Order: sequence, then structure tokens, then C-alpha cells
Amino acid sequence: MFFEMLLSAVVGLNATDLTIDTVRAQTQNVVSAYEVRGMKVQVTQIEVDNPSPLLTRASPNQCTIMLNTSNTARFIWGKFVDTKDVSEEAALQGFALAHEMGHCLLAKARRGEVELPQLSAQLQSASSSSQSFMVSTLIGRKSVSGSENRYDETFSDLLGLHYVSMKHPEHFQLVLSKLKAARESFASNDQAHHSTPFLNQANLRLVDQFVEQTQGKSLSDERIAKAGMHLASAR
Ligand SMILES: [Zn+2]
Repeated sequence: MFFEMLLSAVVGLNATDLTIDTVRAQTQNVVSAYEVRGMKVQVTQIEVDNPSPLLTRASPNQCTIMLNTSNTARFIWGKFVDTKDVSEEAALQGFALAHEMGHCLLAKARRGEVELPQLSAQLQSASSSSQSFMVSTLIGRKSVSGSENRYDETFSDLLGLHYVSMKHPEHFQLVLSKLKAARESFASNDQAHHSTPFLNQANLRLVDQFVEQTQGKSLSDERIAKAGMHLASAR
């Protein structure tokens, strides 16, 4: 990891760097797909010592997506995207912003307007303790969601895949394999983001039903089946 960080300092700005304009445009696409009613969505730029290229602060009425321009975050993003194909890059950006929006939808849903999906029982039990922490920080208006809760991260990954399946179906396989590689490589020191055991068709369908409840665009059965095939065969 140290060598990699050193390398990123030498490489400097990458062609795949995320810009604030791209983040704004992609956020707009995601907002129109999922109709985040009654929630103010804002995009800002920060530089913080955190490996995540994107961070989200979510409360029921306010969703702030932050582009982190620190060297480490840019390096991680460059590693995740790592393609010269602009349409592949757009699919990966779409995934990432839909993931962040997932945190905002959860914050809104926890107000009780819609029912949260009961994802795999194993995940529910693995997440129960941190979930109450999450709820309490949300009330305290201080939460930067994204690093504490495995349920939230898994839901957000599934929503990201849901979005890719709807908007960039031709790149679903690519996004999935990059996501899995990224999650697995951090699994040992980041359990919260270790969503891969729960990325399956049944959970994707539950997220789709959630989206339907919130009046967002849901997937056809055919799309879900196709995504399910990829989810089952990916390693
Ligand atoms: Zn997250």
C-alpha cells in the first residue's frame, strides 16, 4: 500500500480523475431516476484524509455528496475506474453516485415513510448493532454515512448495481467485477463495505421493490433476471 501511495504522488492528476462537474451531472441523472422527493441534494468538493473518493452526509431532508480530492482518494478512484473507454467510465461513475444516493434514500426511509428492505437474514444480524448507532447519529445530524454500517453499504452497492442495470446494462458485468475486486481487497480492514456475500438476485429484487415504493424507476423482470445471472456467476 505504501508503494502504491508513493506512486500516486508521482503520477499526479489522472485522466480518470473525477471532476465536480461530472459528479454534478451524474448526481442529476441519479436523482431523476430515483426521484428523491422532498430532499435537497447538494454536491460539494472537499479534501479530507479519507480513502473514499465520494462521501455523503445524509439526513431525511438534506443529502450532501462530497467529492474528496485528496491524493489517496484520487488514487483509489483511478484504480477503481482504470479504463480509457468513456462509456465504461460513465457506467462506473453512475454506479458510484447511485451508491451515495443510496445512503440518502436510507436516511429518508428511516423516517418511516417507506419500509426498508429486509436483506438476507445473515446481513441483518451482522448489522444490527451498528444500525442503532447509525440511527442515533442521524438524529444527531452529524453522520457522514458510508463507513459504519454494513447494511447501509450493501444496500447502497445494490442500488448502484440497480442503477447500472437500468442505465448502463451493457457494462453491468464490468462494474460488478470491479466492485467485487474493490470490496474484497479492503475486506480485511473494512467489514462495513464487505457487501460481496450479499450481492445476489434476491437482494437486488428487494431493493427494486424498495425503489418502487419510493416512486423511483424500477427494473423489468427480465433485467433483474439478467443481472441475477451475472451476480450468480461473478467471483
Ligand atoms: Zn457508502
